[in-house]
Amino acid sequence: MSEEITLAKTADDTINIARQALDRHVAEGHGAQVAILWLGKDGARREITYGDLKDLSSRFASVLRDHDIEQGDSVFGLMGRVPELYVSALGTLRAGCVFTPLFSAFGPEPIRTRMEIGSANVLVTTASIYRRKVAAWRDDIPSLKLALIVGDGEVPDGCVALGPALEAASDAFEPASTGPEDPALIHFTSGTTGKPKGAVHVHNAMMYHASSGRDALDLKPSTIYWCTADPGWVTGTSYGILSPLLNRVTMIVDEAEFDLDRWYDTIQREKVEVWYSAPTAIRMMMRAGAEAATPYDFSSLRFMASVGEPLNPEAVIWSEKVFGQPFHDNWWQTETGGIMIANRPGMEVKPGSMGKPLPGITAGIVEREDGTLKELPEGEIGELALRPGWPSMMRAYLHEEARYQKCFVDGWYLSGDLAMRDADGYFWFVGRADDLIKTSGHLIGPFEVESALIEHEAIAEAGVIGIPDETAGEVVKAYVTLNPGFEASDALERDVRGHARKTLGPAVAPREIVFRKTLPKTRSGKIMRRLLKARELGLPEGDISTLETDET
Ligand code: ATP
Ligand code: MG
Repeated sequence: MSEEITLAKTADDTINIARQALDRHVAEGHGAQVAILWLGKDGARREITYGDLKDLSSRFASVLRDHDIEQGDSVFGLMGRVPELYVSALGTLRAGCVFTPLFSAFGPEPIRTRMEIGSANVLVTTASIYRRKVAAWRDDIPSLKLALIVGDGEVPDGCVALGPALEAASDAFEPASTGPEDPALIHFTSGTTGKPKGAVHVHNAMMYHASSGRDALDLKPSTIYWCTADPGWVTGTSYGILSPLLNRVTMIVDEAEFDLDRWYDTIQREKVEVWYSAPTAIRMMMRAGAEAATPYDFSSLRFMASVGEPLNPEAVIWSEKVFGQPFHDNWWQTETGGIMIANRPGMEVKPGSMGKPLPGITAGIVEREDGTLKELPEGEIGELALRPGWPSMMRAYLHEEARYQKCFVDGWYLSGDLAMRDADGYFWFVGRADDLIKTSGHLIGPFEVESALIEHEAIAEAGVIGIPDETAGEVVKAYVTLNPGFEASDALERDVRGHARKTLGPAVAPREIVFRKTLPKTRSGKIMRRLLKARELGLPEGDISTLETDET
């Protein structure tokens, strides 16, 4: 029988994520269980137990207090996926401070604006990142009191080396008496549709992190689990730190970026049981072909899930062929803090559908009507909305109260995404409200067109937008990248357009297809359609702080 994990209440009704993620397990005799199996870029392999993490995070919290950092203060993490990132996150929560993880690859400006918005008091980073991206403007952020430097090398002026500080600090640090509604984390959204927003999450969110990890990802005590996301976006924290530790799994942390053989080898060697990844990575695997997977043994895998972008039906079918089981798509947002809609373990997967709401979540498809909302019947497309109230719901957009309030109408939280619910209660993603294409009276979601395009053997990825047209209002235009072995040509364009017309019909098929080496994506791997469109129309590009690839 599997052990059921329940969150223990403290006598004084306080609640602290670090206590529940670490101390509780240690107190119950699991201190020697590996919490993090860390794989270094250079081949290093380090096991960090629950006991180690409790000790290290206590020392980190002591370091904060030794430098007069108080409960409620704001701590930013800016480094790769090194053990210190996880120690900082948990130590910050233990100290009752608020943690904000940033992508280490951000340039100086995105770092600075986010630290300004989040009134950073502490920055934890490496010497190299500090020198290249922070030193020049550090003094312009008056709230910043402490910069802790991870790793070896010379410590820049005005900074403190974390390693020796941890060694010297006390390992006795009781988790701070945070209340359920005290802020714990700030996450910036991916910036796919515009300027990133800072979503505030509270300690009580852990209730949902714990339960949704079990419900949607099948996490159990001692499960070997790998979430490939970086904590710089919400998946890498909610399901790459908190949910797995709350559920006492052993989680893999890979410092390196995507590398097909490394990934396949990691699953085989470490006997990964549950794997949580994203469509952008899955499409890269598909691009390499099923043959690349044949030498590997994936029999340890019990459950595979995907999030972040729509998972094309083709990708679901491909994964069944290659891994003997589908990737299970699930849907949520930085704002929701946790998985809302999912293809749960044991559910029949309909390729292309996001699944059904998790226990405790009520989702609906709604339409605005004179200041109120009307729920739409099954089969109709409208905005995906949720009944507010689950514990991991954001409590604010930092310094953007009006924008936050606008998300709540008539007893619903509005997601900004369009979707449809079918007769069996499955939800189908149509597109972001901003990305919808209106052509000759039809409403077209880019996802449908992109999914049809990547069914063509030559197409690896597709980004679809609407461009203004005098007669049709808008026409569909596609940007695509090619699979190895294919060359861009007029003949290929005709062939792909023919395929699209056959599957989608002439009204929906792209009028024009452009071949690209890469598509513009966010650092979390999302195709930035708004950027394709702005460039197409010669409009300002807007906030591109999260842009990753940018080659035409
Ligand atoms: P921003 O809000 O700054 O524009 P973002 O919405 O991409 O960026 P995130 O919170 O990281 O920031 O992403 C959530 C969004 O990602 C969802 O609203 C949805 O559009 C998309 N998404 C996530 N999971 C899925 C999924 N399974 N299927 C389709 N879309 C998804
Ligand atoms: Mg969003």
